[in-house]
Amino acid sequence: MTAKTMRAAVVRAFAQPLEITELPMPAPGPNEILVRTEACGVCHTDCHAADGDWPVKPRLPFIPGHEGVGTVIAVGSGVRTFQPGDRAGFPWLHSACGQCEWCVSGHEALCPDAVYGGYTVNGSFAEYFVADARYAPRIPASLSSIAAAPLLCAGVTTYKGLKETKARPGQWVAIVGIGGLGHLAIQYARAMGLHVVAIDVHDEKLNLARQLGAEITANAAANDPVPEVLRMTGGAHGVLVTAPSLPAFRQGVGMTRRAGTCVLVGLPPGEFPLPLFDVVLKGLTVRGSVVGTRADMREALDIAVSARITAHIQRSPLENINEVLNGLAVGAIQGRVVLDLESAPHSLVFEEKAAGNGQRS
Ligand code: NAD
Ligand code: ZN
Ligand code: ZN
Repeated sequence: MTAKTMRAAVVRAFAQPLEITELPMPAPGPNEILVRTEACGVCHTDCHAADGDWPVKPRLPFIPGHEGVGTVIAVGSGVRTFQPGDRAGFPWLHSACGQCEWCVSGHEALCPDAVYGGYTVNGSFAEYFVADARYAPRIPASLSSIAAAPLLCAGVTTYKGLKETKARPGQWVAIVGIGGLGHLAIQYARAMGLHVVAIDVHDEKLNLARQLGAEITANAAANDPVPEVLRMTGGAHGVLVTAPSLPAFRQGVGMTRRAGTCVLVGLPPGEFPLPLFDVVLKGLTVRGSVVGTRADMREALDIAVSARITAHIQRSPLENINEVLNGLAVGAIQGRVVLDLESAPHSLVFEEKAAGNGQRS
């Protein structure tokens, strides 16, 4: 008997194009589900993973992708929460230990032994994925798989990050970087009753930001946006930095209001200088935030349904993954690209200029 295979996009070497290839189909172990992938969003984290940008690198070869959605086709032993036919997601927080101080206190995204989907274990840039049934989100019936995919990382990360700013309805939040994460952050912020300042380095991103409800926009490529944000708002009560660019972090701290909180979620490799005098004298909080817990995921999905939060989506076939990653690397993707695994290879539209001509280093 020959084993079944699946198409997948594989990183064989860092900073090299992914290879589209046939691999053996995975089988679900205890507590795991096997899912036929219908859609998978492409996150900038997939660029960092494929380029080996971070201090802890994935083991080669691996399949990236952590915004997967599909239909369960088989369940392993011990699975009680999913049945074949249900829809499930493949999140960045693939699983955690369940026992440590952070897991038992409802902070499982901070588990030191967490397993990351599409990083420490194979992800969902493939026709099938295996997820841990204890951590995989259920997909609300009213969301298509394509529409749900960006919510599984970009959605939950920005919803959680906005909560961590502690900004309250009627206050200002500044969102730095209006890409896949940032354009969803604007919508969550509006649903949370916040006023939004949006900052990016591309005018078309700022046009989208205004359509989504940002009241003030600033192009950081033209001028330092900090004086403008301070003049217009008195300083943002909360700042969410999603840009994969180090100068944006210093600017994010600079536009934070006295006693306000600047939440860092973007992950460009490197460090940035924290202006100690401002942080101390203004009583600022600067904190990191990584995806969200299972409870955050449920809330983010529920709010997306009730507040009609909708990602701006361009579909692409799996075969175009390298063009998509190159487009992300140069900031040329508007909203989110979602790989449509149900389309026939090469049949689909990723013709837009957004694909860019940029190459990853
Ligand atoms: P993206 O490429 O879709 O969007 C990034 C946006 O930032 C683009 O619109 C780009 O034009 C803009 N930008 C670039 N430089 C800028 C600058 N100097 N000032 C303002 N804007 C700038 O990327 P994404 O998928 O939204 O991911 C963004 C970052 O967030 C990545 O580093 C990713 O790894 C990270 N991330 C973190 C978490 C987490 O849990 N903390 C989760 C998901 C993604
Ligand atoms: Zn992500
Ligand atoms: Zn743990």
